[in-house]
Amino acid sequence: MQVIKDFHVHEHHSGDAPGATVTDYCRVAEERGFDEICFTTHFIIAGKDANNGLHPSLISEYIDEIESAQASTSVKLRIGLEVDYFPEAEALLSSILDEYPLDFVLGSLHYIRGFDIGDRAGSVAFFGGRKIQECLETYYEGWREAVESGLFDVMAHPDYFRKYLNLSRPGPLSFSEYGSTVYEAIDALKAYKVGFEVNPSGYRHGIGDCYPILGFLRELKSEGIDIITIGSDCHSYTKLGERLEEAVKRVREVGYSNISVFEDRRRRGIELEKIVK
Ligand SMILES: [Zn+2]
Ligand SMILES: [Zn+2]
Repeated sequence: MQVIKDFHVHEHHSGDAPGATVTDYCRVAEERGFDEICFTTHFIIAGKDANNGLHPSLISEYIDEIESAQASTSVKLRIGLEVDYFPEAEALLSSILDEYPLDFVLGSLHYIRGFDIGDRAGSVAFFGGRKIQECLETYYEGWREAVESGLFDVMAHPDYFRKYLNLSRPGPLSFSEYGSTVYEAIDALKAYKVGFEVNPSGYRHGIGDCYPILGFLRELKSEGIDIITIGSDCHSYTKLGERLEEAVKRVREVGYSNISVFEDRRRRGIELEKIVK
């Protein structure tokens, strides 16, 4: 099985994707038979990693680069951003995101209450010595606020905190340990018509799984949340589409038959059969 759409792709404006040019992605997408990819470079408006994302002054350059690449490829290129949510910067984010012709805005919570949970030390500082439920109440409170901000089409990797969790809490984790605010976050997805992403980068991160965990995905399905995107979260063109088949298997396993793609921030549903070859 090969998946032919990837809605989470980092190019070189993401500080953690050096050398990943749009034209290289297009070449690889053509070689591998992709029909649509969405660039979602990091946009980090505040905090210690603000310089690791696309600087606001370079958004036009980023868009121009993708639009000019579109002229020489048959692969549909979508223009998106992976935007970190900072409650104090909501108004600023809103005005910036409204200013540009984006196809897709993916919301992320890599930072929670000042802790960088995508970093080894930050994860240990957040989770170390505390009860998991207590930490996750905080995490999903932030996640719910991000959903309710109305800034985002879809929330990325819904339990990204698992990336380095094993450093503070060895052993398996189950959805029943996620605490109660996760249910409020799921309710917010429904109320605000925001989607979620199934993201297989957990395989690259060594957790041997997609984000979110299966129990979480089942809960999303049973609550009728049906806006789902899938994206590899690649930071190098060689990894385009990596392990997306795992994401497809996962959504199929819990009973979904469609996923979503976005254009001009409008959602379109597609049958799973039509995104694989
Ligand atoms: Zn991310
Ligand atoms: Zn990403």
